[in-house]
Amino acid sequence: MSKYQVDLTNCDREPIHIPGKIQAHGFLVAINSKTFVISYISQNIKEFIEKDARHFLGKPINELESYLKISGAKDQLTNLLNLANNSKNFDSVNPYQITIDQNSYNIILTSSNTELILEFEPGTSDLNFDVQKTIGRSVSEILSGKNLNTLLKNAAFEIKKIISYDRVMLYKFHEDGHGEVVAEVKNDDLEPFLGLHYPASDIPKQARELYKTNLTRIIADVNSTSSAILTFQDENTPLDLGNSALRAVSPVHIQYLKNMGVQSSFSISLLAHGELWGLIACHNYTPRFISYKARDASKLIGQILSSALEYRQEEENTENLSALDNAATELSKYIKLDNEISGALTSHSATIKDITNAAGAVLVFNNTISRIGITPNEEQIEDILLWLKSNMQNNIYYTNNFPELFLPAQNYSNVASGILACSLSRELNELIIWFKPEQLEAITWAGNPEKPVEQAENGSMQLLPRKSFEAWTQLVKNTSVRWSNKEILLVVKMREEILDAINRKANEIRLLNDRLQLAYEELDTFSYTISHDLRTPLSTIKTYSELLLARNKSLDDSAKTILTRIVAGTDKMNLLIKEILRYTQLGKADIEAAKINMQLLLTEIKDEVVAGIKPENLEFTIGKTPDIAGDKTMIGQVFTNLINNAVKYSSRSVPAKVKVEGIANHDETIYSVTDNGLGIDVTYYSRVFELFKRMDNVKDYEGTGVGLAIVKRIVEKHNARIWFESGLGIGTTFYIAFKN
Ligand code: ADP
Repeated sequence: MSKYQVDLTNCDREPIHIPGKIQAHGFLVAINSKTFVISYISQNIKEFIEKDARHFLGKPINELESYLKISGAKDQLTNLLNLANNSKNFDSVNPYQITIDQNSYNIILTSSNTELILEFEPGTSDLNFDVQKTIGRSVSEILSGKNLNTLLKNAAFEIKKIISYDRVMLYKFHEDGHGEVVAEVKNDDLEPFLGLHYPASDIPKQARELYKTNLTRIIADVNSTSSAILTFQDENTPLDLGNSALRAVSPVHIQYLKNMGVQSSFSISLLAHGELWGLIACHNYTPRFISYKARDASKLIGQILSSALEYRQEEENTENLSALDNAATELSKYIKLDNEISGALTSHSATIKDITNAAGAVLVFNNTISRIGITPNEEQIEDILLWLKSNMQNNIYYTNNFPELFLPAQNYSNVASGILACSLSRELNELIIWFKPEQLEAITWAGNPEKPVEQAENGSMQLLPRKSFEAWTQLVKNTSVRWSNKEILLVVKMREEILDAINRKANEIRLLNDRLQLAYEELDTFSYTISHDLRTPLSTIKTYSELLLARNKSLDDSAKTILTRIVAGTDKMNLLIKEILRYTQLGKADIEAAKINMQLLLTEIKDEVVAGIKPENLEFTIGKTPDIAGDKTMIGQVFTNLINNAVKYSSRSVPAKVKVEGIANHDETIYSVTDNGLGIDVTYYSRVFELFKRMDNVKDYEGTGVGLAIVKRIVEKHNARIWFESGLGIGTTFYIAFKN
């Protein structure tokens, strides 16, 4: 353990409620509550009544009374003590005003275990202020504050009016125990302390405990020497001064005040929900005693402020919570109603960002990253996603010091010091992340909080409050405001709703798919039946037309032409029907995949296609032919169609050039069929593969518009891709990429 730690622990252990000393501006007498015998007395009584303190120890209270020369009725102290003993409530008697030797005093009565304590303090101070009159107005002034900040500022202002100290600060304790000056009213010549932060060690733990029961404390003059409390009793049972008004404060604290140039100090506790919320800390730069009444009025203001704090803080919290709740309700409505999840979460007036107090949120869904508010950039988000993938054990993960865990985030800690992540799908790496910025990029500390202990003048490491009070800046880096339970709760709830909606939508899509599949099958069967049934009457028409032509020599020329056209029409229709049958059959056919010798297949197709074309009219090249896996018949159909088209639509080029070749890549084998023919207008790009679609520039070429639809169907069945490049009047290349 280092010396620093020893010193600090000592500070926390210093028994400040039993210091055995009081401040010198008053004197103290404690009597046994049963016997009324004086059991403790402060040494400085001699300064007030010129009689040695020891004289009174062990004597009854009357003995003191006779020396005090209290004006008015006899036995006042005894009567007061009897009253106190019976009522047990000192508020009604405090302060008890007496006059000793023409000086007015307030007696403040408190108790400790077995003793009743009488503290005599000056009845007057240099304040010419009628507390009673103004207190009502002060309270209504304070409560007129619309928000917490004005409330605090008003309170500081009213306290300053009552006690006339040079500086009144409202000091709020943070979660980690350190304090911040959140409101301040001061004389113009003083440097402001507003916004300064004080380390937790400035007010030791046991002092805080005491502040919860004894709500005000005054140190009238830091330079006066405190007076010892004498007793005839066992030295080990010092008088408990927890409730005392004159209690001397720790020399460490006195030194602390002296370092700041403060000569007297007064503080009032502020409690919210039974816990110390903060202090009203008042400093004066000359010694200044505050009368009991003014202290009591300040205490009252402190108490009123405390209850207002509870209420206002709660109100502010509730406002925030209901804003989050409202956003969550709105969002869940969109999740239920919208067709599309990511739109529901990001595109309305309430978004995922609004169900927390985050500054930004990111939705990673369906391979897209949607950002709302202040978030890291896409590249940084990708890094965070990777990190989360290996570090996120549960569906929800959160931290308020992310850059400490993931070092690259230190470069953008102003955006992502706090992250809250909620996984939607682990397999797809889909999730939502909320971001909170660095809480305070720089806190202005009053003095160095790391160094409350300093080297004493004699060189030893003593516990001395630090001497320097210049603002010292400590960077509270990489930390955001914490994620509250409410935020986490709403995120968990929303996650369930999203998953529910995703499931529901997936089911709907599956159902639609099934129905679509059924419709396709029905359509295929229908087309197949129709086409099939058309073939018989069609061949009857053709046969009879041909018969008529052959046998009827008497037919005139126009009748012959008509019959010839009928025969040609039936041929065309036959071709169309054949193609449709091929197309519909493909819907049902299963693939029998096997390795295909492409050299062989392509040569056969070429021979078939070029038969009847003079070699000088067509340059047909077959380049490299890497083998592929697939259904041989179907792949044959694909290349027959593509090559037929290439030859057909380049037949008017002189000479026509057609080239087929394949290239095997790392994971795909890509075949291309190139011609130097008509070309395809790119505005029709997506329609070329549709059934019965033919381009405007091929009207005087034979065709049905079914071929490429068949090709597309086969290609899809093989999980391959097809596309083309073309230039009008230049030529066309179709590509098919087969997976290896
Ligand atoms: P078709 O029987 O009309 O050739 P396809 O389905 O095979 O029907 O082709 C559809 C349409 O695409 C064709 O009518 C034509 O307009 C266009 N097309 C296909 N291949 C080519 C090509 N190599 N050059 C120019 N146009 C083509």
